[in-house]
Amino acid sequence: MRNLIAEGRRGQCMNDFWSLLRGGALHLQRCSSCEFVRFPPADTCPSCGVPGGSWVDCGGRGTLRAWTVTHPAASNRLPTRLRAEVPFVLGLVEVPMCSSFLIPVRITGVPQELLKLGLQMNVRLGPSEARQLVATA
Ligand SMILES: [Zn+2]
Repeated sequence: MRNLIAEGRRGQCMNDFWSLLRGGALHLQRCSSCEFVRFPPADTCPSCGVPGGSWVDCGGRGTLRAWTVTHPAASNRLPTRLRAEVPFVLGLVEVPMCSSFLIPVRITGVPQELLKLGLQMNVRLGPSEARQLVATA
């Protein structure tokens, strides 16, 4: 799935986010003024409005807070590339250092019957060229 976070939507900070993720670890931005950790990346802090900040490695472990299964009946509204992939599972994962936001992911490698609230997951870059976050148990 492409565009869970649209490429280039937020400019350089998004490019930095994907570049760090390609390096193997999920990084989040921390405000240099109020230390608020934010997601998705942004040029300015949504808490205090100060621009910039630093990247912190959050380890990529998180807790599944919600998920949904996309079934074939809804696939006619999906881009052609994704239609062959339904059903697929989208989830929201909470990362401990950033509990103010849930991170949207595509859940892979976990049978649907094993999904449950609170499941511990690893968030990482998806295997394809598309920029997507995936989570596995
Ligand atoms: Zn701030």
